[in-house]
Amino acid sequence: MTEPSITSAAPANTPTSLPADDHTHSQFSWDSFHGNMRASCEHALVIGLPAISFTEHVDFTVWNAPPGGWAWDQGIRDSYDDPIGPGGHGHFMGAPLEVDAYQAAIEDCRHRFPDLTIRSGVEMSEVHWHTDAIRDVLSRGFDRIVGSIHTLEDTRAPGEHLLVDHAKDQHSPVDLLAAYLSQVEAMVASDGPFEVLGHIDFSLRHWTPDDGPSPWGQVEEQTRHVLGVLAASGRVLEVNTSIPLDLRMVRWWHEAGGTAVSFGSDAHVPSYVGRRFREVSKAVAALGFRPAQDPTAFWGRT
Ligand SMILES: [Zn+2]
Ligand SMILES: [Zn+2]
Repeated sequence: MTEPSITSAAPANTPTSLPADDHTHSQFSWDSFHGNMRASCEHALVIGLPAISFTEHVDFTVWNAPPGGWAWDQGIRDSYDDPIGPGGHGHFMGAPLEVDAYQAAIEDCRHRFPDLTIRSGVEMSEVHWHTDAIRDVLSRGFDRIVGSIHTLEDTRAPGEHLLVDHAKDQHSPVDLLAAYLSQVEAMVASDGPFEVLGHIDFSLRHWTPDDGPSPWGQVEEQTRHVLGVLAASGRVLEVNTSIPLDLRMVRWWHEAGGTAVSFGSDAHVPSYVGRRFREVSKAVAALGFRPAQDPTAFWGRT
């Protein structure tokens, strides 16, 4: 994977240090078949990151099969005895995090890479639905806690759920984003135990040109409202660089009174760690957020 090149010197008032990557996955996430914690640390050092957080999936939501049945990749088929249920149309829930092995691997990497700040973490789905189970996991001790929505209601079966990607057939493209934001609002309005809102743009990961122009303008009012609820909760907005995040979100976050941003590549393979951080962090700096004194910390507002 080609990393972005730096084609011009940064202006004097632009931070030159990269932020921490506070959202990555290793082999301990159920969907990260090519994850490799050590290789991710090596990559982080090569590209000059001050810190990396391994925020592994913790999922308690059961997904229904999408219309047409599951089409999981071979990795899941190899990893689960019966991942998709009888006939390929069953329910699915990601495998639990093996906390002991994970924490041992974190310690091993801290020993191997003393020049890199290595944080433990979890990315928890639908925190507001599973608060007790999640508090149980968190009692084991993690440094970074990301809360994410990955799920929408299955309109074929009220009360049951689909992975957001699979709900695409049930909504118009803009309605899918609006439904997603409604779930995000419910989670951030809750007292669920998480500090960072992960990928507010998750429902756009599979947006194609056929779906039309970027839809944020059509849901601006709702998005600003959700960002206001997030700001009032004292939590942090993640600038996820997978797509990457539309920079209007950072501007609206600043205007909503948001006090800090995190950066997350959401890498599931080592080469994606810190992906697009150089140009995205420069753009975020221009919108009113800056590194803290501690270069591994969240960026605060200027
Ligand atoms: Zn996620
Ligand atoms: Zn993730």
